[in-house]
Amino acid sequence: MAKGLPIMDTFSNQGLKVDRICSRCGDANETTLHLFLECAESNIMWRLSLVRLDTTLFSFSNFYDWCVDMIYKCKVAHSWETVMMIIWKIWGMRSSWVFEKKKIDPMADCSKAMAFLDNVGDIIMTASMSISIECSPLEAEAQAVLFGLTLAYDVGLRRLEVESDCLQLVKMLQGIVQEKYASQLIVFDALSLTSILESCSFAFCLRLFNKVAHLIAKSSMTNELRVLMEDCTLDVLPAILGDKDNM
Ligand SMILES: [Zn+2]
Repeated sequence: MAKGLPIMDTFSNQGLKVDRICSRCGDANETTLHLFLECAESNIMWRLSLVRLDTTLFSFSNFYDWCVDMIYKCKVAHSWETVMMIIWKIWGMRSSWVFEKKKIDPMADCSKAMAFLDNVGDIIMTASMSISIECSPLEAEAQAVLFGLTLAYDVGLRRLEVESDCLQLVKMLQGIVQEKYASQLIVFDALSLTSILESCSFAFCLRLFNKVAHLIAKSSMTNELRVLMEDCTLDVLPAILGDKDNM
């Protein structure tokens, strides 16, 4: 892979007249070392992943040497598979940028966020969390709902109307469909928590109208849990006020 991957550096070494520069950041030649480890968005992906690596701290001269070192360090079962999955994910991000000009935001991929509003649309609390990129999108949505319900319960909220822009998850929470995947187990956990609330309903809302939650997810650049009581970050405020006007 280190020498044969169809990237700009390989093409250039084969004598093709191509621009060697990484088209994602424009900061360096697109070598395998740069693509998978040094490029800024790849670094974010590693830092948010289960392996929590800061790839700017290494000083390897090529990707092959880094892989050899990683294989040696991966002593926990399946950790090398996890590393390979992240490499595959980065390759997917790069391909969708090069071939489809579609930018996959590693943060949006990993962060889930929620806004808790009262019945007139005022903010009770906003929260964001990072979710492992190794789980399926549905599982990530389910984890976010479970996290939101737990948080709401902890701060004393007992009557909830939960909105999500993931239709499949809403159907599962409403008991209309059941899946055979891990996401169903998380849904069961979420539902058992709702049984101790006074009331809880689930509804689907279009992604367009879930702007607040997506903005919070985007603005949360840490991989830690962040909860703001009766507050939100400034970039999210206009969307919340807009939603309030529409209530
Ligand atoms: Zn780059």
